[in-house]
Amino acid sequence: MNIYISSDMEGIAQTKEWLDVRKTGPNYKKFQKVQTDELKAIAESLSLQNKIVIRDGHGSAKNIIKNQFSSNVQIIDYWDEDPTNMMKGINTSPFDFAILHGYHAAGGSGLSPLAHTFSSRNFEKLTLNGEIVGETTFNILTAAYFHIPVIYVSGDNGAVAEAKKICPNIIGTVVKDFSIDSFLSTEDTINSIKKDFVLAVQQYKENPHLFEIKLPDTFEFTLEYKDSEQVMLHIKKLPKVFQLDKNTLAYKTNDYYDLLSVMRLMKLQIDKRPRIISKLINALCKMTRIISGH
Ligand SMILES: [Zn+2]
Repeated sequence: MNIYISSDMEGIAQTKEWLDVRKTGPNYKKFQKVQTDELKAIAESLSLQNKIVIRDGHGSAKNIIKNQFSSNVQIIDYWDEDPTNMMKGINTSPFDFAILHGYHAAGGSGLSPLAHTFSSRNFEKLTLNGEIVGETTFNILTAAYFHIPVIYVSGDNGAVAEAKKICPNIIGTVVKDFSIDSFLSTEDTINSIKKDFVLAVQQYKENPHLFEIKLPDTFEFTLEYKDSEQVMLHIKKLPKVFQLDKNTLAYKTNDYYDLLSVMRLMKLQIDKRPRIISKLINALCKMTRIISGH
């Protein structure tokens, strides 16, 4: 089998504050190992015949300790203009299924001090078809766009609930729940992840259709920025995007890939790196139909 894993850090065992997941934090190295160990538990519960791609989707994308994995595991450890973002590589192989590891609650959900969506610095919250959603939802839809089912999610209670809302059959491991002060130990997390992941694979093998979802026909998207100046700068650069209020932009499309492309651009702070932005906009326009209007 070919397996795709998108990995984040805010939903691994015991991370509770921003310093835990930032390179400058005193416990960062410890949590780098926790993330790696959880992924190893997943990888090692599959035989070496399986090919595994892990997308390091957090911060610099250089958190996972690479030399801990066998040669059947490939790690994607960089960012580029690719609209698939935290799911980079999902469209490069015929993956049997995908899983989300270490995921966290959506920005604006209030479910975790680490809750955010795509950018903790720039974005307050994102909505899709009227509901606040986070990386879990967007990335399950990204996989579905390429006809790859997500069968398993580990992370905080917010991430797992979001996944189950889209597809109730997805198996989830809730590693932490801030609302009731419940945090699995690193050891218990690894044991639960192994058990739940193996169950998900077993159910997938019995009936792969269990995890199929249908993409919505239209995507009505809003993004509330933290900085209203970014709203002004982005609205000038992005066609078909309209302004809802001082801090919020909206976009509507029938093509999910167009939405991903627009979100990729919105993630950039325009005033900070104008040259890079122009290059990126050109690259994205070539790849998508946002500007050409097809
Ligand atoms: Zn992250």
